[in-house]
Amino acid sequence: MLRLPRLDVATPTDLDTALALLATPGARLVAGGTDILPNLKHRLGEPPLLVSLAQITRLRDIIEEPQAGVLRIGAGVTLTQTSEHARVRALFPSLAVAAGQVASPLIRNMGTLGGNVNLDTRCRYVNQTDFWRSAIGGCLKSGGTVCHVVPGGRNCVAALSSDCVPVLMSLGASLVMRSPNGTREVPVADYFVADGLRNTVRNDDEITTEIRVPLPTMPRRTAYTKWSVRQSIDFPLLSVALRFDLEHDRVSAALTDVRVVVGVLGARPREVTRLEELRGRAFNDPEVIKAVAERVHAQCKPLENVPYEAPYRREMLPVHVRRAIAALVAAG
Ligand SMILES: Cc1cc2nc3c(=O)[nH]c(=O)nc-3n(C[C@H](O)[C@H](O)[C@H](O)COP(=O)(O)OP(=O)(O)OC[C@H]3O[C@@H](n4cnc5c(N)ncnc54)[C@H](O)[C@@H]3O)c2cc1C
Ligand code: SF4
Repeated sequence: MLRLPRLDVATPTDLDTALALLATPGARLVAGGTDILPNLKHRLGEPPLLVSLAQITRLRDIIEEPQAGVLRIGAGVTLTQTSEHARVRALFPSLAVAAGQVASPLIRNMGTLGGNVNLDTRCRYVNQTDFWRSAIGGCLKSGGTVCHVVPGGRNCVAALSSDCVPVLMSLGASLVMRSPNGTREVPVADYFVADGLRNTVRNDDEITTEIRVPLPTMPRRTAYTKWSVRQSIDFPLLSVALRFDLEHDRVSAALTDVRVVVGVLGARPREVTRLEELRGRAFNDPEVIKAVAERVHAQCKPLENVPYEAPYRREMLPVHVRRAIAALVAAG
């Protein structure tokens, strides 16, 4: 049995107290605990104090604000609540699908959306026991000096394996961050950086308080597709969020915008480029499927950072993209 390191746990009931406790040197936040606790059991960090967000009820609201044009989802809302919420399902079906595909029902009941966007990066060489890692001398992310994925590389390329982040990026969402110095709003697209050791611009004294998703202003179709070995519990080994904005609410309508975000490549999701060329084409034009799948294949090159061979994952990316778009078109 793997044991947690010795640590204290504080359970504040308001944000100001949580922020004050977070100032303790080395303190970390815990929400549902479904990511950080296994990592601590693997000795990926030994914080003296965990500041729990579980008792802060104001982080658990979902509020629609038509005038501001946003749905505000509290960082403490669980993945189950996100996936089952009527307005999330109606406005952002791809987000409901992504949240509903994380891990297993029990983990989704504990895990929060705030924890999902702040999930630590993962790698087949680091998400192992301390004993396993010591046998290969560690790596840049765990007390060593080399990277086993990119030998000779100086950067950690561990992958962000969050199901919800690619979708939130495709929807143009932003994160509200609170610190003792005030509040700032950061677009999800700007929150992540390509460094597996520290893949967000979050400062140590900041707490994500809510996720703001802009309400749709025109008809659209969205999808999230994920491949994992055991669909009942595993992290994604491939993931793609798709969004097609339409001139009218039918699949034969012209595209006004296309956004495709691919996850699990590196420490930040990749937004596929050169899709503006599809604007004006009918969504159900078979050339659209072909063009999106080709661009995904050309621009996305998985690494051997998570299980399964990178060439296989690369070849499967366009397959999943084609299937997802075909299903959207068939659904009408
Ligand atoms: C077996 C297993 C399978 C899993 N499969 C998947 C999967 O398929 N897809 C997937 O996306 N995830 C998966 N996970 C990871 C995890 O369950 C989810 O990502 C979950 O959403 C994490 O949320 P949490 O509230 O439990 O986060 P925690 O574990 O509490 O925290 C995760 C990280 O976020 C930080 N954090 C938490 N809340 C905040 C906040 N409000 N502000 C700033 N930082 C914060 C913590 O300090 C920590 O670093 C899996 C985990 C397990 C154990
Ligand atoms: S990508 Fe390299 S440095 Fe990063 S965790 Fe994996 S092996 Fe370690």
